[in-house]
Amino acid sequence: MTHIFHRTPRVPLQTAVRGEGCYLFDADGRRYFDGSGGAAVSCLGHGHPEVVAAVAAQVQRLAYAHTSFFTSEPAEQLADLLAGRSPAGLAHAYFVSSGSEAVETALKMARQYHVERGEAGRRHVVSRRQSYHGNTLGALAIGGNAGRRALYEPLLAEAHHVSPCFARHGRQAGESDAQYAERLADELEQKILALGPRTVSAFVAETVVGATAGAVAPVPGYFPRIRAVCERHGVLLILDEVMSGMGRTGTYHAFEQEGVVPDLLCLAKGLGGGYQPIGAVLAAARVVDAIVGGSGAFQHGHTYVGHPVACAAALAVQTVVERDGLVARVAELGRGLDARLRSRFGDHPHVGDIRGRGLFQAIELVRERDTGEPFDPALQVHARVKRAAQERGLLCYPAGGTIDGRRGDHVLLAPPYIASVGQLDEAVERLGEALDAVV
Ligand code: PLP
Repeated sequence: MTHIFHRTPRVPLQTAVRGEGCYLFDADGRRYFDGSGGAAVSCLGHGHPEVVAAVAAQVQRLAYAHTSFFTSEPAEQLADLLAGRSPAGLAHAYFVSSGSEAVETALKMARQYHVERGEAGRRHVVSRRQSYHGNTLGALAIGGNAGRRALYEPLLAEAHHVSPCFARHGRQAGESDAQYAERLADELEQKILALGPRTVSAFVAETVVGATAGAVAPVPGYFPRIRAVCERHGVLLILDEVMSGMGRTGTYHAFEQEGVVPDLLCLAKGLGGGYQPIGAVLAAARVVDAIVGGSGAFQHGHTYVGHPVACAAALAVQTVVERDGLVARVAELGRGLDARLRSRFGDHPHVGDIRGRGLFQAIELVRERDTGEPFDPALQVHARVKRAAQERGLLCYPAGGTIDGRRGDHVLLAPPYIASVGQLDEAVERLGEALDAVV
């Protein structure tokens, strides 16, 4: 009996002992292609020598210094690097240890921004039903993943959800992209008005939805309309790019493909690539100025804010990503992966949709392709495909959720940016074999 209590061992887990490039190895010597980078984390793969050296050097030089006493070189350099690559105005970084902490931090920053400006009545947060923003109580409260929320509902703050932008399931017959986007923006505006103007602090959305629905990008024009509604009502726009950010979708930030810039941006997974736990909030000047020019200090903090080793790891990861032109590579590999998925699954009787951006791609699994009828949830098709793939040496990320009352099974691929075309081709083959073995 294991003494680890991470999850109920319905199926005993293999022990991972080593990582190299795009592969993980278990204690029995089996090799797995990391086709999902864990959960869209390992953007540089495993054991990258420059990142390993940077982490080792930082641990030796300075492992920890509390931010109430000191700043640190890697934290300062990482903040400079992120500011330099982000649109002007989104130039201030707050470093935390996870995606959930990044979301919690952004919610609190938004709240303090309003209070500093004399709008203490702004307390509501609006988010979307199809979303996941983390498992800590504040992040869980705004998320829309029914399964993850259920047990903790009594502990969660009141949630204000609007519809997701998911054209495949949400667009009405005959509706154009523009009409659909307009309808969703109207819905947000009505929600803000119903809650009471000047009572809403922020609207939160994943730029490209990850875990709950499998790589769902918005229709063109959605975010600019949402942005306009937020501006009209003094509501801050928080984009959660914990999963979809840091090059994963083929641009440095996923929002670059949407024609908007958020007030607060949440980052995590690809920031440190799994070499250390790290997340960040990038904040717009107007938010920081209101706080610094008001009470002077952001009322927040964790023991490991700006952890030097975590920042050194992220700095090394991001330096390699930039030097090796990996974001452009993601865009190019993504086009190939999309084509490969379409040729393998385009006619598959149990694949209802193939979607995504860059190296963030998903297939939606359905009982019947023509009608889009989902599988019976009890079958846990996504989880079985994941296991079958792992048996075949491929790691892929399963997602099964209920979206606006409709059940969905998805499998997500989010491979390292350093994967070769041959490795991606093979991953698609293994996924096909796993799917055919299950359904
Ligand atoms: N936001 C999004 C979009 C995520 O996908 C996740 C994790 O999957 C989180 C937030 C929470 O991040 P973490 O698990 O690092 O707390």
